Order: sequence, then structure tokens, then C-alpha cells
Amino acid sequence: MNEILVLAEHRGGTLGDITWELIACGNTLAEQAGCSVAVALLGRDVGQLAEQLAAAVGDVVVVDNDRLEHFVSDTYQQALVQLIAQRAPALILMGHTACGLELAPAVATSLAIPLVTDCIGLTFEGDALTATRQLYGGKVSADVLCKPSDRYLATIRGGAFPADESPAAAGTISTAEVTIEEDDGLKRFIEYLECEAGEVDITQSDVIVAVGRGIKEQKDMAIVEEFASSIGGVLACSRPIIDKKWLPKDRQVGSSGKTVRPKLYIALGISGSFQHLAGIKSGGTIVAINKDPNAPFFTVADYGIVADLFKVLPVLKTKIEELKQGS
Ligand SMILES: Cc1cc2nc3c(=O)[nH]c(=O)nc-3n(C[C@H](O)[C@H](O)[C@H](O)COP(=O)(O)OP(=O)(O)OC[C@H]3O[C@@H](n4cnc5c(N)ncnc54)[C@H](O)[C@@H]3O)c2cc1C
Repeated sequence: MNEILVLAEHRGGTLGDITWELIACGNTLAEQAGCSVAVALLGRDVGQLAEQLAAAVGDVVVVDNDRLEHFVSDTYQQALVQLIAQRAPALILMGHTACGLELAPAVATSLAIPLVTDCIGLTFEGDALTATRQLYGGKVSADVLCKPSDRYLATIRGGAFPADESPAAAGTISTAEVTIEEDDGLKRFIEYLECEAGEVDITQSDVIVAVGRGIKEQKDMAIVEEFASSIGGVLACSRPIIDKKWLPKDRQVGSSGKTVRPKLYIALGISGSFQHLAGIKSGGTIVAINKDPNAPFFTVADYGIVADLFKVLPVLKTKIEELKQGS
């Protein structure tokens, strides 16, 4: 089996977390299949990113082209299809991200190869690829055997693999030449719209205080907001809070919201439906506060408090402040 080719994602001179997660996935698979991993870095003036990647991965192949300065799926597709033809990898890995979702089907169609999306696990048995995917909103995990092929393309769900940035043996950086046709103008890059100052990206937060339907009145949001900021956290929520429009949609955690991986996740009055839990990746400490001892959240929580959240919060806040002052 030839190599596994990982497509690096980057923006504004920074590699996306998904790139390191894809590398971790590629490394695990390569060990299993006895093949190598290479990272494809497409862009313009990306030498610094190539060096960063080469410190952690054996082989980095750079396609440097003015037309690849910003992600536009048509130009990326042209470059990637040629790169794949040159290197003949057995598997191409992309993130199940906005970029990957746009690019992967187009590349798979151009090359007439099987595509399996939103994978949370992959295994090779010989040359046969099996992907683990979640169905019915995360209620069922299915192992999907891909149609036999010399080459496969898979997109990986963010957070499914722990990011691996640890340095490996000194890597090599090579370049690949591709021809990118004059674009037809159907798709073009206009500008990146950054979050406005003050907006919160819960996927980047180390401490999250998440609220659910246990908050019965909108006025009580102020209490939890104050608690969150007193412990240096940000506010997130379950879907009913979005439905009531008490928080913006980008604060929703879950299968139809964001996937988060904080160091501390405090769930206040959230039952713990599988759709909500699908958005919390393991690794950090989970604390659940709920009146109902049978709430499913307690099955995944590291610490559980069976009580009325409005009675617990002031005690917790005081205790945390005392500990902070003592330290
Ligand atoms: C296709 C689909 C996608 C979905 N996607 C998502 C998603 O991405 N994210 C998501 O969150 N949901 C999602 N949902 C909704 C999900 O199924 C649940 O309905 C939702 O997560 C429930 O939210 P909740 O836990 O806040 O509310 P509830 O299930 O009503 O739970 C409220 C909890 O608060 C507790 N409580 C009440 N009062 C107090 C109090 N004073 N103190 C302490 N505890 C108290 C109760 O015991 C209860 O456990 C989705 C549903 C579908 C069908």
C-alpha cells in the first residue's frame, strides 16, 4: 500500500486544529497498514507552515500557487486532483469541515473513487477500508465497508481524533507543480468575515458553563452568565435555549450545534440527550448539576450534583472564590 495523504487546512497563516487531528488519524492508520503519511499543503507563500508541519510529520508536499492563496474549491480541486495523480496515495484524508465538505465530493467525482464522509474511525484490513460513522443523530455507530478500490477519500469529523503536534523525526519538504486553469469565475473569493469583537467562539474555550431547560425564566440567564464570567468561562447551551432565543445559535452544543473540547464543562439543568452529548468531546472534566438523579448527563459526568442549580450556584461561586483567594 502506498501513502496516506492528509490535506492541511489553514487560514490567515495558521493551521487549523483539524490538520493535527487528521495527522493523528493518518499516523494511526499508517501504523496499522504499514504505509507512510504525507501532508499536502496548498496555498501561497506557505513556507512557514510547511516548516511547522515538517517538524511533526515526515513528509510535507507543498503546492505553492498564487491562485491557491485563499480556499476556493474549484482551484483546490484542480490542484489536488493533479497532486493525487502524481503521488497515487491509497487514502486521502480531509476534515469534515466547510472546506472539506465542499471539496471532497468534487475530488472524489473527478477521480471516480469512493468517498466516505464524517468518519469518527477508520481501519484498513488489507486494502479494504472500513469507516465508523454515526447515524440517526449519533444514536447508532455503524461500520461501513467501502467499495473495494485502489484509492479512497474520507472526511474526518472534528474532535474525533486527538490533535498530535508532537515533533517526530525531522521531516522533508518537497514541492509539486500543478497547472491551474484560468477560473471560470463561477466561484471566487471575496473576503473573510471575522467574528465581531466580543463574539465568543465556544469551540476555543477552556471553560464552558452550559445551560438547558432547567433555566425556566430568561431573567435567570443573568445569574448563570455572572457565574460563568466569575470562573473565567463562557456560556453555551442546549437547543431549547436557542429555540427560546435566549442565546445565539453559535452557542449551541450538540449534533446540530458545535463540537467543543473544553478543559471544564459545567452543565446546568441539561438532561443529557444524545444529541447534546454528541457535541462534547472527551478529555476534560464534566460536571453536571441536575435535580433529577436519573438524568442521562450523570452517566458521562466526572462529578454530579443532584440538586436545584439555583441553590448550588451561589455555594459553588463562593467556594471557587475562596479557593482562588487562598491560592
Ligand atoms: C435532529 C435533532 C437534533 C438535535 N440537536 C441538538 C443539539 O445539537 N443540541 C442539543 O442540546 N439538543 C439537540 N436536540 C434536542 C435534544 O433532543 C433535547 O431535546 C435537548 O438537548 C434537551 O435540552 P435540555 O436538556 O436543556 O432540556 P430537557 O431535556 O428538558 O432537560 C432539562 C433538565 O433540567 C433539569 N432541571 C430542571 N430544573 C432544574 C433546576 N432548577 N436545577 C437543576 N436541574 C433542573 C431537569 O431535571 C432536566 O433533566 C436535537 C434534537 C433533534 C431531533
